Amino acid sequence: MARWIPETLHEHFRFSFKTNNVLYESHTEHQHLIIFENDTFGRVLMLDGVVQLTEEDEFVYHEMMAHPPLMAQPEPKRVLIIGGGDGGVLREVLRHPSVERAVLCEIDQSVIDLSRRYLDFIAQGAFDDPRAEVVIADGTKFVAETDERFDAILVDSTDPIGPAIALFTREFYSSCKRALNEGGVLIAQSGLPFLQGDELRDVQKSFRALFADAAAYMMTTPTYIGGPMALSWGCDDPARRMPERERLKARVDQIKGEMKYYTPDVHLAAFALPAYVARYVHG
Ligand code: SAM
Repeated sequence: MARWIPETLHEHFRFSFKTNNVLYESHTEHQHLIIFENDTFGRVLMLDGVVQLTEEDEFVYHEMMAHPPLMAQPEPKRVLIIGGGDGGVLREVLRHPSVERAVLCEIDQSVIDLSRRYLDFIAQGAFDDPRAEVVIADGTKFVAETDERFDAILVDSTDPIGPAIALFTREFYSSCKRALNEGGVLIAQSGLPFLQGDELRDVQKSFRALFADAAAYMMTTPTYIGGPMALSWGCDDPARRMPERERLKARVDQIKGEMKYYTPDVHLAAFALPAYVARYVHG
C-alpha cells in the first residue's frame, strides 16, 4: 500500500512524497533516517523528517556547494567537507584535477554506510578515491583541533537541528577560518531565505565579523521547497568571488563530464540577490 511521507521541517505547512517502496528506515545513533523511492524524484534520503537529497535534483545543491568556491581558487589542493555523508559534494570536489586531498568529516557513520548501500549513484565511487579521507567525528571538534590548512571548507550540514546546531555558531565559523589557507573560502548551507531568513541573517552576521568579504549566493533545488536556498560565502580576498568569465570557462573545460547546473554565467549571476534576501545578508 502507498504511504505518504511528509517533510516536517516547518511548523505551519508540509509537503509529502508518495512511496510504494521504503528501502530503509531506522534511528541511527544521531538521527532518524529513511530512504525510499518516489516516482517523480527517484530515491530520496530524509534525516529527522527533512529532505537531504533526491536522485533527480541532487545535482543542483552538490554542484553549487563545490564549484563556486573551488573555481574561485587559482589551484585548489586541499578541501574539507563538514557533514555531506551522502558523498555528493565529495564527488564534485574530486572532479577538480588540482585537488590532492579531500577530507570529509561526518558525525554519523550510518549516513555514509546507508548512502553507499542504497544511493551509490550519489558518491559514484568518490569514497574509494585515494585523495579522499573520511573522518567520523563532530565537525566542530575536528575543525577546532586540526593542524591542517585548507583552500576551501564546505559546510554541507543538515538544518540547525540536533547535532547540526553547533555548525551554525560563530565559534565554529571562527575555527573554520583558522583552518583556511590565505585566501581560502568558507561556504555554509544557510537555508531558504523566504522561510528561514533568521538563519541566513545570523550566519551572515558571523561571516561579516570574520571575513573581509562576506556574501551569499543562491540556487534553486526543486525539493528544498520554499524558494531558492542561500549559501554563505566568507573569504578574506574580495577579488576571488567574481572571477572573469573567460577564466571560469577555461576552468570548466578542465573538468571531466558535463555540469548539469553550474556554468560560468550561473556562478556570476548567483550572487545577485533579490531585495528580500539582500536585507538578511546586509544586516
Ligand atoms: N544537502 C543536505 C541538506 O542540506 O539538505 C545536507 C546533506 S548531508 C546528508 C548533512 C550531514 O550533516 C548529515 O549526514 C549529518 O549527519 C551531518 N552532520 C550534522 N551535524 C554534524 C556535525 N556536528 N558534524 C559533522 N557532521 C554533521
